[in-house]
Amino acid sequence: MVKGNKSKQSKFPWSYIPFFFLSLGFSILIVAFSTFLRTHNTHIPNPLGIPLTWILALGFSLSLLIIERLVISSFKCSICGREGKDVLRYSNRKTKRFCRTHMIDEFKKEFLKIQNKIVVIYPKLEEKRGSSYTYQYYSLSDLKKYNLQEIIGDLVTQGLNSISGACATCKADAQVAYFGADSFRWEHKGGSAGWELPAIEKINHTAEILCTRCVLDLILPSLRNFKGNFEEPVVLHYAGEGIFLPWQV
Ligand SMILES: [Zn+2]
Ligand SMILES: [Zn+2]
Repeated sequence: MVKGNKSKQSKFPWSYIPFFFLSLGFSILIVAFSTFLRTHNTHIPNPLGIPLTWILALGFSLSLLIIERLVISSFKCSICGREGKDVLRYSNRKTKRFCRTHMIDEFKKEFLKIQNKIVVIYPKLEEKRGSSYTYQYYSLSDLKKYNLQEIIGDLVTQGLNSISGACATCKADAQVAYFGADSFRWEHKGGSAGWELPAIEKINHTAEILCTRCVLDLILPSLRNFKGNFEEPVVLHYAGEGIFLPWQV
């Protein structure tokens, strides 16, 4: 755990006081009402003098505390415990929540494990804000499932077929057909909401042939500097060959 959390824990938890008073108020109501039902007398003794009121108040405030803890922890980075708005989907389809820094760290770690040939489109998200963008991997079989085969199937096939030999930058084994920042534009695709998509189908550049390490150096700044929140999880590589591409959801 980070140091900041420790010093927080040692202080008196003032923020929990409202929970207790809320619970106490609720308990007073319950005890007063149940006394009235039992006695049918509008003269009700002070509920604060009845032990049941305090027992109920304690029980309710503890339950509220536990619920609050559970809700907050479900929005925290699973590594550092700070606010975590980014979600990663792993190759086993499970997801984990991270702050931006740790999402980038995890993305890098998992990306370097990829064994297949892949196509990578530059995210170009550093120029975007808002909450409707994401960066996701699509396996070849899912391109068909999401009707992307007709639109970008040829680009992906040509890209994959062009991968051979050494990385153009560092001479390590090449594994990626990479389309950089200048290879496409974001284009509005109609709709009143101003929906826009990367015009990947219009790419007529030849892919750069690189290794995974060199591609990471190129794409990570774009993901890191995206000023919005990823609306859907960032999807890591799964199920063999395919393509990483930015998307508006
Ligand atoms: Zn974190
Ligand atoms: Zn390289």
